[in-house]
Amino acid sequence: MKAINTLMALVTLKCPKCHKGNMFIHPNMYSFKSTNDMPEDCPCCGQIMKPEPGFYYGAMYVSYALSVALFIPTFFITVYFDLSYIGFLIFFSIITVILSPYFFRVSRAGYLYLFVRYDKSKATCKH
Ligand SMILES: [Zn+2]
Repeated sequence: MKAINTLMALVTLKCPKCHKGNMFIHPNMYSFKSTNDMPEDCPCCGQIMKPEPGFYYGAMYVSYALSVALFIPTFFITVYFDLSYIGFLIFFSIITVILSPYFFRVSRAGYLYLFVRYDKSKATCKH
């Protein structure tokens, strides 16, 4: 159950420590001016969201893994519908463009989740 709660908090981009506070200031991830704006710390528990300069460079590896994970089902969908290579390329490009802002955010969240553990005593915020 703990793993499911952590996974749900991750995909909804909540703070890794309290699972309540939002990791990003603006909920609309398709607002490209503000898609990477993060608070300095969690509004609920005070967890620092930017632990050190350049911390989120490691999130690129998470993003790469997500892109590869997206490639595999996309490939099988194109095989199932018997699309050509060009059809696959167009389909994969469209899916990638649509999901890129989410992958950007969930990669950052996932990378922070690698280093910060859930603390039940911090989950008292009502947000
Ligand atoms: Zn928090």
